[in-house]
Amino acid sequence: MSAAPVTSPSRSRDGTAASLLNDEERTRIRAKSAQFAPPAAALPDGRRDLVGLSREELTDIMVEIGEKPFRTKQLWHWIYHQGATDFSRMSSIARPLQEKLAERFIVGRPGVVTEQTSQDSTRKFLFRFRDGQEAETVYIPDRQEDRGAVCISSQVGCTLSCTFCHTGTQALVRNLGAAEIVGQFMAARDSYGEWPSPKGDTPRLLSTIVLMGMGEPLYNYDNVAKAMRIIMDGEGIGLSRRRITLSTSGVVPMMDQCGAELGINLAVSLHAVRDDLRDEIVPLNRKYPIREVIAACRRYPAASNARRITFEYIMLRGVNDSEADARELVRLISGIPAKVNLIPFNPWPGSSYRPSTREQLERFANIVMDAGFASPIRMPRGRDILAACGQLRTESQRLRRAERTDTAPDPAGA
Ligand code: SF4
Repeated sequence: MSAAPVTSPSRSRDGTAASLLNDEERTRIRAKSAQFAPPAAALPDGRRDLVGLSREELTDIMVEIGEKPFRTKQLWHWIYHQGATDFSRMSSIARPLQEKLAERFIVGRPGVVTEQTSQDSTRKFLFRFRDGQEAETVYIPDRQEDRGAVCISSQVGCTLSCTFCHTGTQALVRNLGAAEIVGQFMAARDSYGEWPSPKGDTPRLLSTIVLMGMGEPLYNYDNVAKAMRIIMDGEGIGLSRRRITLSTSGVVPMMDQCGAELGINLAVSLHAVRDDLRDEIVPLNRKYPIREVIAACRRYPAASNARRITFEYIMLRGVNDSEADARELVRLISGIPAKVNLIPFNPWPGSSYRPSTREQLERFANIVMDAGFASPIRMPRGRDILAACGQLRTESQRLRRAERTDTAPDPAGA
């Protein structure tokens, strides 16, 4: 996807030089990302998955097979509004065309390898894609209401090696394609039977998306952006940009692009308030230090009091959880419409970090709250099924290696 240049006033007093520098960085990030591209969309039998195509691509394909462009609107409705995966269900399309479509295309889903539901109703899916790569998706229901968030992965593995994150110990294998990103959400909705897509303000069980699963979404921006545009399209799934949050470790040039092009909500994995410490906890900080990350948050266009930027802060005992840290955090984010999610650390074998005490968590939270920022302490969800933050595809992968049999299902359409 080609993207319009995004002007960004950071980095130097000379705005022009700064935006040029960021354009260069975006080009470099995209070139690197392209080295981890997902496999081709065609199946071994030559059929092509229609999921993950933009409207324009779908129209081109219809024209290629001799059909009128208006077929795009029909197909879009059946695929993304009705959730149909079988052309024979598409009753507004004549039988001969249904058959022609079925010969050439599929409406795919990732294969469901495992689906586990926690005692607290969190549901975790392990999906397998056509090349055998796997990623996890988690549905986290709201405790009080009939709604919840779907936490979606954007890459298989991760390059960033945040030291508190067990998931980050897995090397990056590849980016997920738009079809695989949209497919996680659609397969989760299959599981809850939430089709057709609820319209307008009609309540939704799967009501929000958080791009917080495995991977750094801004290192796979083009596929993530394409997938989010499909999900936001009002004639299909129709999830509003206000209900989508992208979480980044602070890929500053792409934060600008995401804000300008998608306007979805932003979450930033901050985790430390001093560069020397953040260099260690979130090594990406060596490239984009705290002041640049915070400056990118200040200019993020979609931020407002109604749509606050979320700062994620994992609480590590004796490392980043002092009262001085809390006061510095407040100083850093002062003036930004923001809230701070405090995340108790989830210990894993081999990690030297320990979780902060409850008292320290509360002291920290109170300082942030007294400064006017909401500072909820996020209790881990789905711990019994290894679905909590930073656990994705680590312990479950190890357990599955131990138990693996040849009976795992093949992915849909493979
Ligand atoms: S926290 Fe996110 S970006 Fe950092 S290593 Fe883990 S998956 Fe990657």
